[in-house]
Amino acid sequence: MKTRDRLRIAMQKSGRLTEPALDLLNRCGLTFRQSRDKLFCFGEGEPVDLLLVRDDDIPGLIAQGVCDLGIVGRNVLSEYRLTAGREAEELAEWRALGFGRCRLSIAVPQELDYREAAQLQGQRIATSYPGLLGEWLRERGIDAGVVTLAGSVEIAPRLGTADAICDLVQSGGTLVANQLREAEVLLESEAVLAGAKALPSDERGDMIELLLKRLDGVIQVRESRLLLLQTSRHALEAVIRLLPGGPQPTLLPVAGQPDQLMLQALCAGEVSWRQLEEIKKAGAREMFVLPVEKMLA
Ligand code: ATP
Ligand code: ZN
Repeated sequence: MKTRDRLRIAMQKSGRLTEPALDLLNRCGLTFRQSRDKLFCFGEGEPVDLLLVRDDDIPGLIAQGVCDLGIVGRNVLSEYRLTAGREAEELAEWRALGFGRCRLSIAVPQELDYREAAQLQGQRIATSYPGLLGEWLRERGIDAGVVTLAGSVEIAPRLGTADAICDLVQSGGTLVANQLREAEVLLESEAVLAGAKALPSDERGDMIELLLKRLDGVIQVRESRLLLLQTSRHALEAVIRLLPGGPQPTLLPVAGQPDQLMLQALCAGEVSWRQLEEIKKAGAREMFVLPVEKMLA
């Protein structure tokens, strides 16, 4: 097979992961020629192209080497690892991306007095995730019937084709609408960056490493705030004690005011009004909280 020199990333063509995945890649400095209705988008600037496919196809495309990376739900990747045999062993979850959060859960009819997993013994459970459900049942020594359905799993109990379901849950609204109740969580899922365990040994491998660094910056920045404030030298210790977590703050002199310092601190999360008021009480003034646009460690 002719080796490619451009990196190829697979992502969902149209669905819940599409917009956030594209936004994330854009933030990493990747832009693509607009052809969102088509399968292939040529990357401008960096040698990275996009393949737009059904999310279920993404792990297989990576395993076959058609794509180098993919943005896909952990639920889909884990299911593939359990059901696709040897080629799936070569896949790795490179990064968790913080969007597309949901749970793979077993849900039972609301009227059932559910207390423990042993009650699932002998029951029929409908799911699109036979691999993950099968493993969970096996680990607990529960012998239940797994009814594999491609979609509309949530109506199976009402149709009488199953006693319970194992499906993705986000808010739980779909379960309530179908008179079901979440009973067990099998997997906490979110979108992940998946790829082959071994990096390609050519320029594509270098590009993946570069991308991972940018991605780490983007993910970290999303939650980071830069806190700027002025404080007198004698209040400094008290102010520093109240700073939200992060690396050591930077201190700068203030022109014409030898007793004053300007403090700059990177905070790992939101800085609340309450925290600002506390820091101010300790002696700070002229406080600013700024979002961070880019970060390169
Ligand atoms: P296609 O197969 O056409 O790409 P799909 O219907 O399988 O689309 P979506 O419903 O868009 O896919 O879901 C894609 C992913 O979004 C899921 O695999 C899961 O990781 C995540 N997700 C987050 N919340 C939910 C939810 N409430 N229901 C389903 N998936 C969710
Ligand atoms: Zn799908």
